[in-house]
Amino acid sequence: MLKLYNTLTRKKELFTPLHDKIVGLYTCGPTVYHYAHIGNLRTYVFEDVLKRTLQHEGYHVHHVMNITDVGHLTDDADSGEDKMEKGARREGKTAWDVAEFYTDAFKRDSALLNLIPPDTWCKATDHIKEQIALVQTLKNKGYTYETSDGIYFDTTKLPDYGKLAHLKEQKLKAGARVDMGEKKHPNDFALWKFTPAQEKRQMEWTAFEKKGFPGWHIECSAMSMKYLGEQFDIHCGGIDHVPVHHTNEIAQSETATGKKPWVQYWLHGEFLHINDAKMAKSEENFITLQTLQDHGISPVAYRYFLLQTHYRKQLTFSWKAVAGAEEGLEHLYRIVNGWKAEPKIGCAEYEKKFFDAMSDDLNMPQALAIMWDLVKSDYPPSAKKASLDAFDAILGLGLKDLQEKNTHIPHDVQALVKNRERARKEKRWNESDQLRQEIIARGFTIEDTATGPSLKKT
Ligand code: AMP
Ligand code: ZN
Repeated sequence: MLKLYNTLTRKKELFTPLHDKIVGLYTCGPTVYHYAHIGNLRTYVFEDVLKRTLQHEGYHVHHVMNITDVGHLTDDADSGEDKMEKGARREGKTAWDVAEFYTDAFKRDSALLNLIPPDTWCKATDHIKEQIALVQTLKNKGYTYETSDGIYFDTTKLPDYGKLAHLKEQKLKAGARVDMGEKKHPNDFALWKFTPAQEKRQMEWTAFEKKGFPGWHIECSAMSMKYLGEQFDIHCGGIDHVPVHHTNEIAQSETATGKKPWVQYWLHGEFLHINDAKMAKSEENFITLQTLQDHGISPVAYRYFLLQTHYRKQLTFSWKAVAGAEEGLEHLYRIVNGWKAEPKIGCAEYEKKFFDAMSDDLNMPQALAIMWDLVKSDYPPSAKKASLDAFDAILGLGLKDLQEKNTHIPHDVQALVKNRERARKEKRWNESDQLRQEIIARGFTIEDTATGPSLKKT
């Protein structure tokens, strides 16, 4: 009995998929003009927990994630520069190279966070034909108008425009800066943009008798429907997507197909904040997974840190809090390391409580508290480990791995080894010697071999 909070109805609802045991899940992916920051990664971890919970409930999940590599403008609306072209200028590379570089970086980060990869990755630039066809359908149906800079969706023709964000009640889009240009109504949005006459873009295509490129929202409508059908079960993203991006995706898709609702359940993750502000790529003061690792915080510990807060609650980042999570996870590893699971014998009482918490709109903090209660309980370690392995299918903290590897190297030691490697590369010998001493003090010897450092427990 899985219950999920649906942004569309503002209620927790019993989850019932359209097709028996198969779930279509679309999650808005990264705009690849820069590294993902740890705020973006919070959203992807929440989506991963959702997917793992669906799988635990016995659903086969078809997960599609897009890569935005064109058309996302710097102000999230219809003016400003394309983020990809901006990234290319910043780095002196082509927009295509920038996209490839940061797509690879995103996939590496995802793997470090134990995110199960989507079944289908789709790039906006690989689906230009589908996006043009969708714009053409909307044109044929009479829902568009053309200005000197693009083709726009006429939102005044859609009585239920803004239903996801309750825009009617709010009158104005929350947080949206209204730059009207030649638009007829502030909510109208670009489906397709024309390349300005004096500009040479790296990414552009000929369509509608001119050179141009897709608006940001059209890619998600075109690609999700291509891979999941005209109606599907779940669509996710960060909370900022509610008033603009997802609102416009709904307008395009429901108008094109005439089928409502386009998506049954909309789930949104709350933001990660830092110093009382949202973490944002555009601010360029963001923290990446690499920054965390440089400070001795492992990606899995960051995942553990995120699991401690409900996905619909704002979370404020602090170095103290992530260091606490690193310590907490190490503590868990130390307790569990060496426990061997007894197949098929778990602690039913705790398993019920844990999965009930997860089925209640992914109550991750409660599930973690239950996990710790189990760890501290009087059950035999073999039974506790069997249950922990089952929990780890959702938590993704590498607990199952511990049993397989058995000689686990704690994350703080891994971080020391990494820092020592860097110090050696940069010929800071005193520092590298000091780090070696710290590693020895943690109970390991370190040998430098041709393939890199080799660790042994003393
Ligand atoms: P982008 O790469 O900018 O397209 O964003 C990727 C995902 O990260 C989207 O789902 C955003 O809603 C989400 N996001 C952006 N900033 C934050 C933040 N500070 N905290 C959590 N999620 C965020
Ligand atoms: Zn999207």
